[in-house]
Amino acid sequence: MKKILIVATGGTIASMPQEDGLAPELSGQDLIQRVPELKGLCDITTVQPMNIDSTNMHPRDWLTIASVIAERYDEFDGFVILHGTDTMAYSAAALSYLLQDSPKPIVLTGSQQPMAAPFTDAQLNVYQSIIFALNPCSFDVNVVFGSQVIAGTRAHKQRTMSFNAFSSMNYPVLAYIRGDKVVWFGLMEPDPAARTRRALKRYTKLDERVIVLKLTPELKPSILGLLKDDYDAVILETFGVGGIPDYNHHAFRRAIFEWTDSGKTVVLTTQVPEEGLNLGVYEVGHAFAHHPGILQGEDMTTEAIVAKTMWALGQSREREAIEGLFSQVINHDHTPTS
Ligand code: ASP
Repeated sequence: MKKILIVATGGTIASMPQEDGLAPELSGQDLIQRVPELKGLCDITTVQPMNIDSTNMHPRDWLTIASVIAERYDEFDGFVILHGTDTMAYSAAALSYLLQDSPKPIVLTGSQQPMAAPFTDAQLNVYQSIIFALNPCSFDVNVVFGSQVIAGTRAHKQRTMSFNAFSSMNYPVLAYIRGDKVVWFGLMEPDPAARTRRALKRYTKLDERVIVLKLTPELKPSILGLLKDDYDAVILETFGVGGIPDYNHHAFRRAIFEWTDSGKTVVLTTQVPEEGLNLGVYEVGHAFAHHPGILQGEDMTTEAIVAKTMWALGQSREREAIEGLFSQVINHDHTPTS
């Protein structure tokens, strides 16, 4: 019988009403017991490194989850992480960078309604995550939620209440779960041998000094100078396909180049959720397309850019090495320019 490790971390799925609102209370063991359909399906072990609302997740918690999995990797056939939905997309991306090329499936799931609520999506999400983790063709880090399988770097929480909380951004859903079946989307051949061509690469360092800044009309470029002491990288969500205001004698350009010329990193991305960045299109983006120290988020989610920047800066302080790490396609995170 296959062996699955459940890593329970909290979230709505584990929450019960408290005086001031929902808060995690149930353990991983409690949650599994509430899904009787799992009996006889596989051999389940649960661990509980934390029991928190995912609002309170730190990058150091991603490292803890990664090390729980890495340390027991050989004992199990697959891993299911029970996690709050609010920051699940960040954690799924972070685990995609910390545990790369995993031949075994590492699944994140949770629910919009607590396991103990009368109308809950929790049971189905746990059950379908385990069905996916047991499939011979599953590998790498994925989010399984609302019957969809989404690559760990492409998930985005799109809805606060509906059971289909997550969308796969700029990349197809990898598979759907229908009953007990994993129905693979056409682009991924269900090939059990694919696993054997992979070997887990584990990373243990992140640089959490990364901030996201959203460009809004009249944002002051001087904000960049104010962030210098606390951050090593800024991810700037530009307008449209890559527009940055060029008024006030290119004040933004000067502030951004000052930041990169001091050895820090800027990642440019777009605040438009779909289709990604292309700095070459407009005059208001062109100057940033080839400046040293500026990375481009392409069609990645902001969640994946945050995690990838933390990972890349955690591995090296050298500009060329950071650029090399950032440009790699990892767990389908971006579509490379052809
Ligand atoms: N606040 C909860 C969390 O992220 C929301 C959820 O799990 O749906 O932990």
